[in-house]
Amino acid sequence: MSTDGTIHARGIRKSFGHKTVLQNIDLDVASGEVCCIIGPSGSGKSTLLRCINGLETVDLGVLQVNGETFGYHETETAYHALSKKKLAEQRTRVGMVFQQFNLFPNMTAQENVMSGPVLVKGQDKKKAAARADELLASVGLDGHGFKYPAQLSGGQQQRVAIARSLAMDPEIMLFDEPTSALDPEKVGEVLAVMKDLAKKGMTMVVVTHEMGFAREVSDSLLFMDEGFVVERGDAREVLGNPKEARTRSFLEKVL
Ligand code: ADP
Ligand code: MG
Repeated sequence: MSTDGTIHARGIRKSFGHKTVLQNIDLDVASGEVCCIIGPSGSGKSTLLRCINGLETVDLGVLQVNGETFGYHETETAYHALSKKKLAEQRTRVGMVFQQFNLFPNMTAQENVMSGPVLVKGQDKKKAAARADELLASVGLDGHGFKYPAQLSGGQQQRVAIARSLAMDPEIMLFDEPTSALDPEKVGEVLAVMKDLAKKGMTMVVVTHEMGFAREVSDSLLFMDEGFVVERGDAREVLGNPKEARTRSFLEKVL
């Protein structure tokens, strides 16, 4: 049985100093599913993504990502870390796209996309360049490979960033407010690329304020507030008929 492209989290707790940022979070994302996370600023959404890809260690609870288990097993009191090798592997198997595109400014779009395969995986440069061109075409940037980030619009830069993540052949993609820094007219082109990726069967967790995208694309939706998952379920159900007062008041503000 393959467990690739799956996420299971149980009882995740995370504090920074005295502040508990994640309170007993459970999350299950099956292979090929899209899970959207919504919630006010400071509710712990980014921290949860960072725990999933191992950028943060949890204080309690256990994660199983791509079949690799880390955290605290039920029977164990000591933290079970991934080995350095496994952690490095996970970094390639779990792609992450941020609000700020974080492209290398001194590299062309093509060089940005091929940098991971060449530097991390030791891939042949010619091969990596050809693949980068394919990936750029797949995000609607055919012929833009020679341009530097400063020569591209925000929407184009974010699509390069997505292509750069995909170049590592991840089984899971995490998106942290990928369209929040974009001019409104550029949001749609990035969402279209993400929609396409979802259709191709990528497992995705998407922190977003784009309720239309969440409604249309996600298999499940989580509403987080103050470190808790306040409500979860089918996106249409949660957005259309929220059960919790806190969800309702949040949605009234953003919709
Ligand atoms: P969200 O993404 O929902 O806006 P975050 O996960 O970024 O929320 O942050 C949740 C809370 O954790 C916030 O109060 C934030 O200030 C705090 N926090 C996040 N990262 C750190 C950190 N590295 N050190 C201290 N506090 C942090
Ligand atoms: Mg955040």
